[in-house]
Amino acid sequence: MSQEKVNIKKIKSTGQMHKIMGEYFAELKEASEKGSPKIAWCTSVGPAELLRAFGFLVYFPENHGALLGATRMATDLIPAANALGYSPDICSYLTSDVGSYIKKSTPLTKAFGMETVPRPDVLVYNTNQCRDVKDWFEFYQREFDVPVVGIDTPRGIGELTDTHLDHVTQQLKEMVPVLEKVAGHPLDEAELKRVTDLSKQCTLLWKKVLRSSEHVPSPITFFDGTIHMGPAVVLRGDERAERYYQQLLSELEQRVDQGVGAVDEEAYRLYWEGMPVWGALRDHAEQFASLRSCVVASTYCNSWVFEALAEANPFKGMARAYTELFIVRSEDYKERYITSMVRDFDIDAIIYHDAKTCPNNSNNRYGMPVRLSNRLGLPHVVVNGDLNDLRLYSEEQTRTQFEALIEQLAEHRA
Ligand code: SF4
Repeated sequence: MSQEKVNIKKIKSTGQMHKIMGEYFAELKEASEKGSPKIAWCTSVGPAELLRAFGFLVYFPENHGALLGATRMATDLIPAANALGYSPDICSYLTSDVGSYIKKSTPLTKAFGMETVPRPDVLVYNTNQCRDVKDWFEFYQREFDVPVVGIDTPRGIGELTDTHLDHVTQQLKEMVPVLEKVAGHPLDEAELKRVTDLSKQCTLLWKKVLRSSEHVPSPITFFDGTIHMGPAVVLRGDERAERYYQQLLSELEQRVDQGVGAVDEEAYRLYWEGMPVWGALRDHAEQFASLRSCVVASTYCNSWVFEALAEANPFKGMARAYTELFIVRSEDYKERYITSMVRDFDIDAIIYHDAKTCPNNSNNRYGMPVRLSNRLGLPHVVVNGDLNDLRLYSEEQTRTQFEALIEQLAEHRA
């Protein structure tokens, strides 16, 4: 199958996204230097709304981890964390982020003029995604000598019950006195309601952005999504994120109206299950475009859709939103979810990324690909790699696997 080099179609709103991300980091830099406003570190699917309602600026180490991966700095920094006893087998966001801290080397310097990550006043985690985030934040607790608080969420949940929700809601409420002490003032319930409402608006717009790729041809790829999800991760609950997704959505709707696809002559539509390989995003985007194939949907980008936010009781809304996530759920639930995505997005094949250092986002390890392929009658491929540690990823092997998958689809259609 021939593969010419193609240029990736640029999304015009990207400039605006860079602008608001630049503002976000400039605010963190200034606050870190002045000591005000206070800064909370939060896990990516942690209770950001609660922190913002207190007036904290919120920083997300996983976003830094993704930047370390995308700039290909991660692989060289991981050994510094390994030397402290953090295994090469655990989360490579954690090890590359800790390595970056030890080595005083961060992509934030080149991108945003920050010498280092912003100093935290409090660290807030939720183990809904994995235990690694707790160990990660406890490393920084020892370094910065600041409070760490968190939620231990039950995992592998099939049906989400009131018992689960009450357990998480209670833990969210128990954080409040610690946060009040750090913030120096009580929680303003009206502000919490305002922020969760805003966050919900952001989520609904982000979902519309992702759902635009149900259209044939799709106006956006998974690879675009991994970049444009930045504001949904770090600025949810802030008006700028909401405004940004209105702009992006209108650009994508225009593409749909004009029949413009993200990939020229889109012939095959794929689903990506698992983490991106951050250091290979561009390669993957170019290869699929050259194969006239569009990765139209993913579990990963949809992980920042929190539709349960903004219930009348904001604590319960947060508890539900952050506990009903795909990553927290049972194998059965996950298979039902992927089945519905395959139908909604008219998917021809599924790609599973087995990320060596993230079992939590690698759903190929307990038979799911074979079960789903049998049930749905779709081919799949399992790519062995990693989110950040490129020593665990073979570019050549992956290219060949993608090519073979598309050849299989082409033969089937012929
Ligand atoms: S879910 Fe995976 S990538 Fe994310 S913090 Fe946990 S181990 Fe790391």
